[in-house]
This record gives sequence, structure tokens and C-alpha cells, in this order.
Amino acid sequence: MKEGYFGEFGGCFVPELLMPPLKEVAQGMRDILPFSKFQAELQDLLKNYAGRPTPLTKCNNLSKELGFTLWLKREDLLHTGAHKMNNALGQGLLAKYLGKKKLIAETGAGQHGVATAAAAARLGLECCIYMGAEDIERQEINVLRMRLMGAEVQPVETGSRTLKDAINAALRAWISEQATTHYCFGTAAGPHPFPTLVKTFQAVISQEAKAQLKEQIGGLPNAVVACVGGGSNAIGAFAEFLDDASVKLIGIEAAGTGEPGCFNSAALNLGSPGVLHGNYTMVLQNLDGQIEPSHSIAPGLDYPGVGPEHAYLRKIGRVQYGLVKDANVLAALKRLCKSEGILPALESSHALAWVFDHAKEFSANSHVLVNLSGRGDKDLHIIHNAVGAGA
Ligand SMILES: *Cc1c(COP(=O)(O)O)cnc(C)c1O
Repeated sequence: MKEGYFGEFGGCFVPELLMPPLKEVAQGMRDILPFSKFQAELQDLLKNYAGRPTPLTKCNNLSKELGFTLWLKREDLLHTGAHKMNNALGQGLLAKYLGKKKLIAETGAGQHGVATAAAAARLGLECCIYMGAEDIERQEINVLRMRLMGAEVQPVETGSRTLKDAINAALRAWISEQATTHYCFGTAAGPHPFPTLVKTFQAVISQEAKAQLKEQIGGLPNAVVACVGGGSNAIGAFAEFLDDASVKLIGIEAAGTGEPGCFNSAALNLGSPGVLHGNYTMVLQNLDGQIEPSHSIAPGLDYPGVGPEHAYLRKIGRVQYGLVKDANVLAALKRLCKSEGILPALESSHALAWVFDHAKEFSANSHVLVNLSGRGDKDLHIIHNAVGAGA
């Protein structure tokens, strides 16, 4: 396949002024990532700073109810509460090796901003996070977390004042600051080489899970299920299983409230091919090609596009992509809390909900792995608004 492409999807559709820093990152990926000193330093950070390997938890109580064995890969236990840290540390370290002094990043709900701020602090880099003004108002606790870790939070007042505008602002800033700055992009989307770079750092999820399952059950799972926003936790959870034809891979998109025409974040299921943020992929757009607003009860899934490799994996039929509505997400979240004492993120609860809703499709000897991408503490205000204090 042509470099940076996944079938017809992917590519690098950016202004000329962004090509030099993107080429520099792609070169770093080839020359620096395989270097044993880099790998040793990254492994040390992942283990002793971020808390890898994350556990693989067998859901004893739920498995009895469901009639098959449910396993969780516990990215919720990673430092700062989600898988985002794998990528932030990887790119942060790469930036240091490239001689950069500063990280910039976009954030929507604030999870990637917090992970980048933490990685920058740890690595001794300056940090500026671009965040939509609307999101700053909705996520003031995460803004505080970023500022406590020394990051500057730059409000973005253009467009819908949310994530997609923050990405545009960060890309613009990178043009003028490229000599000293790395843009730590937060998901497996954007222009080449980001989809591949982010996948490389998130693949640790499935590398560990595959080995952990081998030890526990002596083989492969029957299915791996993960939620899809931009697609980074899902591609990380799928990566090591892509060549194992017996393993069903299922990505779950946010259907929103579920009535026809409602706002959603399901670019694969309900979108069409187009260019967004430098790559050709599936996007939510109107007939004029203008990007439509997205919505999800899970702030981290609220993105009108999706990583190009997912568009490709769907097209060739290797991965199936399902849809889950807000109401089922909340029910799944409550069920995991009550059954296993684990409060999952609203994003991850999309994957759980799909498994609960499709439980009949799995036979008694099945092993189903859900990537629990993050913890739900960050979502308590949304959960409180939706279900009240009584739950
Ligand atoms: C950001 C986030 C997601 C969605 O992003 P992906 O790149 O699709 O993984 C999912 N879960 C959690 C907990 C997140 O913070």
C-alpha cells in the first residue's frame, strides 16, 4: 500500500507549510522509534510512570449473567485515567529526541490535554493545549488539571468552539512554531503519519492483552470490542489481532439519542467519504461537504470524523462497526458498576453496551475482550445530570 494510505483512505491533505514538520515526524518514526535507547526509555516511562502493564480483569459476576466469559483490558487504570497516556508519552519522548522544546495539542473533553500536559511535565517540555471555548466552559475540572501540570490552555473561539476547531487552531499554530514544537495529535486520525504513529503507540494494548489471554485461557479471544471516537483505543486494541482471522473485531460508534436525524458521532455508519483534518476518511458532512456538528453523551467520542484505517478495515470487512444509543450506554455503565465495582468511562461503556445487547450471539465457551479505555470519574457530572444522585 502507498505510504500513509489504507486502501483509498488516509493521505496527507495539508497546506504546504505543514509538510516539513510532518515529514520530520515521519522520519523520526523510521529512524528513532526502533532505536533501542528510545524503546528502553519508553518502556521505563510506561512501566514506572504510567503503570503498564495494565491488568486483564475477568468479570466473574457478569460472565455468569451473560453466559460467556467477559474480560476487560483495564486502560482505566493507566495514569491520568485512560489509554491516551500511551500516545502522549510516546510522542512526547519522540519530540525530545527530535530536539523539540514544546508540545502543543488539541483537546475536546480534556482527556488528551491532561495526558499531554502530564507527559510534558514529566519530560521537561513546555506545553500549550488548544481547546474550544465551549469545551473550556463544560470541562473546567480538566482545564484545572492541565493548568496544575503547568500547561497553558489556549481558548479557541472560532467555528463551533469545540474539538474540530481546536485541531484547526493547533495545526495553524504548528505552522509558525514548527522549529521548536511538536504537535502531539491525540487520536489515530489526522494527516500521515499520525494515524500510523498513534497506532504504533496504542498497539501496546493488544500486545499485552494477547499475551495475558494466552496465559489465562491458552489461546485467542473470540471477539475484541472497543469504542471508536477518532479510533485510537480501538486500533490499539485490534492491532495484534488483525491477522488472526478467528478473532471477531468490533468497533462501536456513538448513535446519540437514537431518533432519526439526531446528532451522533457515527462517521463510519452514518457518514460519507470526505476530507477532514488532512486525511480522506468517513466524515459527517452535508451535501455541500460542510462538516456537520457531532454529538455523543461520551465527550471523548464527540468527533465528526474517524481514523482512515477504520474506514479501510470496514470497507474490506475485517472489522464490523456497531452503533449504541445513549440510553443503553448509561444502562451498561450502571451494570458494570453494580456487578463488578468498576466505574467505566461513558466512551468505554459504548463497547460494553454492545456486548450486553448482543450477548445471545456468543456461545457458552466464548471469551469476549472489551477494551475498557478509561475510567468514569471524569463523567460523574454528566451521569449525575442523566440519572440523578440515586442512580
Ligand atoms: C478520548 C477517549 C476515547 C475516544 O478516543 P479514541 O481515539 O477513539 O480512542 C475513548 N475512551 C476514552 C476513555 C477517551 O478518553
